[in-house]
Amino acid sequence: MGIENILLHEIIESKNMWVPIDSPLHHFLKTMDQNKKGVAVALENGQPVGVLTERDVISLLYQGIDKTAPVEQYARKPLVLTLGNRTLGYALNLMLENNIRRLIVTDEDGRFLGVVTQKDLLMHMEDDFYQATLRIKHVLDQKRNLIAVNRTTTIKAVLEIMVAHNISSVPIMEKDRAVGIITEKDILRVANDNVPLGETVDLYMSKPVYSTGIEALAATVVQDMNRKNIRRIVVNDIDGKTIGLLTNRDFVKNLDGDYNQFLEMKLKCSKEILNLLPEMLIELIDLRDEQLVIWANEKVLSTFGENILDTPITELIPQAKWDEIYSHMLEKGKVGDVRFKTAGRTYEFSGFYLPLQKGSEKGRIQLILRDITEEVIQASVDPLTSVFNRRYTSDFLVKETERSKRMERTFSVIILDIDNFKAVNDLYGHMAGDTVLQEITQCIQGDLRQYDVLGRFGGEEFLIIMPEIDKKVAASAAERIRQKIATREIELQTGLKIQVTVSFGVACFPEGGASPDDLLVVADERLYQAKRHGKNRVEFD
Ligand code: GH3
Ligand code: MG
Ligand code: MG
Repeated sequence: MGIENILLHEIIESKNMWVPIDSPLHHFLKTMDQNKKGVAVALENGQPVGVLTERDVISLLYQGIDKTAPVEQYARKPLVLTLGNRTLGYALNLMLENNIRRLIVTDEDGRFLGVVTQKDLLMHMEDDFYQATLRIKHVLDQKRNLIAVNRTTTIKAVLEIMVAHNISSVPIMEKDRAVGIITEKDILRVANDNVPLGETVDLYMSKPVYSTGIEALAATVVQDMNRKNIRRIVVNDIDGKTIGLLTNRDFVKNLDGDYNQFLEMKLKCSKEILNLLPEMLIELIDLRDEQLVIWANEKVLSTFGENILDTPITELIPQAKWDEIYSHMLEKGKVGDVRFKTAGRTYEFSGFYLPLQKGSEKGRIQLILRDITEEVIQASVDPLTSVFNRRYTSDFLVKETERSKRMERTFSVIILDIDNFKAVNDLYGHMAGDTVLQEITQCIQGDLRQYDVLGRFGGEEFLIIMPEIDKKVAASAAERIRQKIATREIELQTGLKIQVTVSFGVACFPEGGASPDDLLVVADERLYQAKRHGKNRVEFD
């Protein structure tokens, strides 16, 4: 056995772990007190929708909330969920990476299965994980000052210290030695019993306090803590003076020593700094069959939501695209400048792969994403008229020719050019000319199908590409647009109303031309034929 072989649903418990979301808060507190896990979940139709930990309750009590209020008001929040068929090892990583103390576990349908805590994980670790050499002094951060109080401190003051330092327990000292400890759990009990917060802490502290020496073996201490069902232990130096306090979390962090080293080497700066970056960073765990998001920085979470954690990356990047990227990364160790689209936005990313052998984990993948939607738009759209620019339109024409050739389909192109446009500029000014360009493109756009592409090809010359449309239909579409423009009054900024006309040349693939260039030459010839024949005309033969 070992954390890589045990699945979460084999170890979790759901008894006394949840309340319906509409229960009163005191019901919730009672449940939490019974389960001794420091957490309970709020369910709606069997699915987890909220959670409160002892830590949350402490700060709520500190704010002085009403215990008859519905738990919904305080507990409902976005949750980090994981599936029951994930391994303990995976859960450990997810917790460490995201600094979560408990994970809520569901089945494939999102129904609540239970909660897994760091303590649950510790209980299932193998001894060799702790390394026979790891001692308490290695686990204890001796630079960290011990935060402690004495017997006569009030409960209110302790609450204040817990909230201010974000800690879950405080030893109570007499001289240099801890004689008791007050934990979030004790505070909960006090709240449940409606004890006045002005009372002194020694009446409610847990005692005796469990302690250990700095030379003790970490593995032995952890086993001992599991047996006694305690989550924290006081550390005394060789003279019996209390110098520190260790929680389960401190042990868990140390178990994964190799992993922390790996992180250091890889990131060279802390995740807090990464959280400040404008780029989006995603870290994936490679389980070979799938790649799951194990960590993401703030920017990612605020863009895609917290739900992105613990989901396969293919929820974000299309499967086919990802398969290609993944095999490339395995082979080359990295990929660069890959683009994909999701929810109407375009992203570009680079990624690199770090092979790793850790149970079911085969490696880590880091992705750096950039939202390039704006850049892509700017690079493909004409700023004056907001229709596609020449480059985009030409690229589209090339692709459409290839597609139609492959599928043995037809499509049409229409080149159009405003008649006597120079005269508009000369008579009414350049601004008036710009207005005419904008009005005419709007008029054309309103008449096209969703699949048609309208691009500005030159000054007052435009190209329309109509996939799947034959020459006859294209010619009648051109004729409809011609009439619409010719009868339209364009109001200039001066209030003056003018009318303009447009000439059209239509060509169809493949009869008119089998390459993009040939098609354009033919359409252009027909446009000039329309000009020669008196303008304001459509030519297609
Ligand atoms: P024809 O009927 O033969 O097409 O004659 P035309 O006057 O439309 O053609 P010509 O090619 O002689 O003139 C095109 C004019 O379009 C010249 C140029 O100054 C003007 N033009 C090109 N781009 C813009 C623009 O962005 N804004 C404005 N206002 N004018 C432009
Ligand atoms: Mg013209
Ligand atoms: Mg022209």
